[in-house]
Amino acid sequence: MNTVVVAVVLAILVLLAVAGVVLVGRRGSRPEPGTGAPDGAPPSPRPAGAGPARGTEPLGPPPGPPGAEAAGTAAPPAAPTAVLERPEPVAGRLVRLRARLARSNGALGQGLLTLLSRDSVDAATWDEVEETLLLADVGAGPTTALLDNLRRRVSVLGRRDPAELRGMLREELVAALQPDLDRALAVQRHADRPAVVLVVGVNGTGKTTTVGKLARVLVAEDKDVVLGAADTFRAAAADQLQTWGERVGVPCVRSDREGADPAAVALDAVRAGIDGEADVVLIDTAGRLQNKVGLMDELGKVKRVVERHGPIDEVLLVLDATTGQNGMQQARVFSDVVAVTGIVLTKLDGTAKGGIVIAVQQELGVPVKLIGLGEGPDDLAPFEPEAFVDALVAAEP
Ligand code: GDP
Repeated sequence: MNTVVVAVVLAILVLLAVAGVVLVGRRGSRPEPGTGAPDGAPPSPRPAGAGPARGTEPLGPPPGPPGAEAAGTAAPPAAPTAVLERPEPVAGRLVRLRARLARSNGALGQGLLTLLSRDSVDAATWDEVEETLLLADVGAGPTTALLDNLRRRVSVLGRRDPAELRGMLREELVAALQPDLDRALAVQRHADRPAVVLVVGVNGTGKTTTVGKLARVLVAEDKDVVLGAADTFRAAAADQLQTWGERVGVPCVRSDREGADPAAVALDAVRAGIDGEADVVLIDTAGRLQNKVGLMDELGKVKRVVERHGPIDEVLLVLDATTGQNGMQQARVFSDVVAVTGIVLTKLDGTAKGGIVIAVQQELGVPVKLIGLGEGPDDLAPFEPEAFVDALVAAEP
């Protein structure tokens, strides 16, 4: 009798063990690269400093971010790729991308050098200098100041040696860019919570792309990042952001419902960042500029709700450098609505109007912190006045 009981128990144990192995095997299976993922989501935020080095880490299927239920937010489906991209180092990006400033280069730096190199710099030439500065969107006030300084210095400069002229122009342009402004991004984690960066701007300026590129900048600096897709009014924005995140293993908190409350999504992203001990939470917002009151209501609510967990560390305003005075107008409206702490100027690769960097800083009193120099994933560079001007007045355009 006893033998029979023991045999039955053993048989049951063996059956259970086999079933267990099969289940574990199924859960642990990974999709082949490029075949898409049947289940799971991009990685949830990793504890700071934990886990294997980026660039080789396979994407896994952990659960969605905590707090997702509140806004109907959901963890996105798993990433289709198995190997994460390694973003380019941040240092020296502007130098690497300086050729992208070629059009600004011709219009502003080289244009001014050519004018100032004339045998006699008369009143007509100064008019042309002024026109060159205005056409490059330097703005009326800064143009007058630059013109006065250049006039004074050129008259003192007896002979017009090209190298000396270039040096002088370089100094004046760098000074106009206020090189002493603090351009560091406030992305240091606090003791108990991540830094929170709100990214605002009109749709079409390159806002979502900038959030994606910025996530890569932070990943390159070994930070743990969570994205919040609070631009819930543009259908493709959340998908776009999620894809940016997946490429570098950064989770994206989003809502599957178009038109969901942006503040709720933003709050869920911050909660996910807190729970996952992330360093930085980057929140993309909608930029509908239908009227100032609407914008104020929307961004004001996002800000209020997010700040339940502590003050926002950085509000980055994204401006399209090709839009000239329109961009300046947007800058004024946004800075009235939220306390902008830094500007990102996108599309500087496609414009002769690099002077907007000078104009926007002087008008808003806020530093340009990053510039977009192309559509590539790592075409976002920290703004460095000296390197920028070097590209504009380079001997070899
Ligand atoms: P959003 O509506 O403000 O979120 O704009 P998107 O991020 O969708 O970008 C709009 C377009 O601008 C996209 O085609 C981007 O690739 C492009 N874009 C963004 N930044 C840059 C940049 O620095 N240079 C260039 N050439 N294109 C950019």
